Order: sequence, then structure tokens, then C-alpha cells
Amino acid sequence: MGEDTLFRTLDLIEPGDLVRYHGSLTNAHGLYLAQPCPCEVCSLRLRITATDARYVLLDPWGEVASQQCVRRQSITHSTTCN
Ligand SMILES: [Zn+2]
Repeated sequence: MGEDTLFRTLDLIEPGDLVRYHGSLTNAHGLYLAQPCPCEVCSLRLRITATDARYVLLDPWGEVASQQCVRRQSITHSTTCN
């Protein structure tokens, strides 16, 4: 599935998308709902560098604390079927 891999490196995370976190916090790896990070730091950063979007990750089951300011590189779409 080379095409799928290429697509995933280019695609955007839309608000509410299910994503898999695989960043530096290994004990937080798993599935989350992604939303654009609303904090001031990220809003300012995005205004300066439009490609550097950060995300808030929400646990869809409410069992894990949400994470803020997560880099785009730390998450990928968890679904390949839509
Ligand atoms: Zn932030």
C-alpha cells in the first residue's frame, strides 16, 4: 500500500478525526480524537508558521487525560478505510 503511505504523509488532520499518538510520551500512545490546540502559544505559532499546527488529543473513552500542543508529526490517522 505505497499509495496509502504517501497519502498519509500529506493529509491533514481535521477536527474530530480519530488519530493514533506515537510521540515521545510512550505511556500515552493510543487512539485519540484530535482538535486544533486552542492555546495562545499554538495560535501564535500557527500565525507565524502556518504549517506548524498543533493539536489537542482527547481520549474518546474519557479514561486518559487529554494532551495539548501535540505536534502533527506525533500523530497519524488511525483509520485507513475512509
Ligand atoms: Zn497549544
